[in-house]
Amino acid sequence: MSSRPDLGPKPSLGYTPSPLDRAADKRGDEAVLAALMADKRASAYIIGGEMIVAKKIAGGNDPLFAISEARALGAAHAALFLGLDSEAGRFGFGIDQTAAEALKIRPDLLITDLRSIATQGLVAPEHLPPLAEAKAMLAWHARHRFCSACGASTDIVEAGWRRDCPACKTSHFPRTDPVVIMLAIDGERCLLGRSRRFAASMWSCLAGFVEPGESFEEAVRRETREEAGVTCGRVVYFASQPWPFPMSLMIGCHAEALTTELKIDYTELENARWFDREEVALMLLRRHPEGLGAPPPVAIAHHIIRAWVEEGRGVLR
Ligand SMILES: [Zn+2]
Repeated sequence: MSSRPDLGPKPSLGYTPSPLDRAADKRGDEAVLAALMADKRASAYIIGGEMIVAKKIAGGNDPLFAISEARALGAAHAALFLGLDSEAGRFGFGIDQTAAEALKIRPDLLITDLRSIATQGLVAPEHLPPLAEAKAMLAWHARHRFCSACGASTDIVEAGWRRDCPACKTSHFPRTDPVVIMLAIDGERCLLGRSRRFAASMWSCLAGFVEPGESFEEAVRRETREEAGVTCGRVVYFASQPWPFPMSLMIGCHAEALTTELKIDYTELENARWFDREEVALMLLRRHPEGLGAPPPVAIAHHIIRAWVEEGRGVLR
């Protein structure tokens, strides 16, 4: 066996951990929130659907605006309290996507989607977690304007952390959708797949939504069997990551493959196959001779795959 290339220092994962204290006890206190927003140190992110608004600054972009600057850029249909940065309140302002798109004519602003911002490192990494928090919350609000119990229009309360129905009095809370993302391992080989949505040369972990009444471990086994026909035994939790597209939580796992014959579900995947550790190391480093690649470090898949390249079967302990 050839020796594996050195993968270098461990990169950090995107969208976590957050530098903010969520200070949930302040969400229901309108006087405290008004004082926080009136404070000169307060700041806000501006999000219009998929688009993030940022200021161009020397050497990069800054997505954080003073409250007065943020208000001048567009009427917010929602102002969320994201948490405290030391003592300063940080907010998320939701504007219409068309209003955000219209700001593209401003040469001093960058208007682009969060995926591009994260993968291209367009803002300082500490902004990614609160941007993910704000974007996921605004996506939830956009889809929950009406009560799912009675159909009446609902009101935003608790600084954006709840919607109440004035007609039937039901309270609705922001939700996050759990997704398992896993690497099935057969000794010195791992199973990677390709979705039709992927860039032409990219291979990644299999993934799928956790279903009601299912544990993470069961979801890992079911998705791997459904998508690739592989039966898994032991499942070991690795790490999780908020994934605000639109509001998921990725639950990263390694799984021990008990079978290796593939039976691919081509409605879910374009392809899947086994890769050995040397080949996957070159894919992580973007030095694969055929140009095959793995997801970038901002995504948890990169870290799940890298941990196996470095530790082998040790990840299943
Ligand atoms: Zn209702």
